[in-house]
Amino acid sequence: MSQNIIANKRIVKSKLQMAQTIILSLQQELATYIAEGSGPFLAAIYDDKGNLIAKAANSVVSENCSHNHAEMNTIKAAEKALGTYDLSPYNLSLYVTSEPCMMCLGGIMWSGIKAVYYGVPSKDVEKITGFDEGFKPDWFNEFKKRGITVYGNIEVEVGQKVLEDYIKKGKKVYKPERK
Ligand SMILES: [Zn+2]
Repeated sequence: MSQNIIANKRIVKSKLQMAQTIILSLQQELATYIAEGSGPFLAAIYDDKGNLIAKAANSVVSENCSHNHAEMNTIKAAEKALGTYDLSPYNLSLYVTSEPCMMCLGGIMWSGIKAVYYGVPSKDVEKITGFDEGFKPDWFNEFKKRGITVYGNIEVEVGQKVLEDYIKKGKKVYKPERK
């Protein structure tokens, strides 16, 4: 087990193993999504029995919407599938190939998701791609206070490679003008 895993709660080995399997699979599928025009991020929501509820990639460019990050798209799809704006009674976990940005942290909080598992940390995403992940003061503890478990840095090397390939292929890194 990687020593780099970080969490805001004691790590439960079986949950982490499941997260490693899911995130590896998301990283592998991501190439297909990218080839079809998605941004380099993919997320999935599962229930506590391991059933897939929703899965979606980043579609900011393909759908002309700056909110369409993988996490936001997946939450929207899960809420639609379950016919609710509040996922909290369903005990759902969100798995995502990279650490959520500041917008998605808000989106996750309002959705009622109970746990977040992510792959590549934001500092690596920014270093490899140049995407701006936003300022995120102490979100591990803020999530903990709200009963949301976080496990991060899962299968980081695999995820870094996917992001490096995205850049090597000359794919778009979008961000608003900062001047
Ligand atoms: Zn985001």
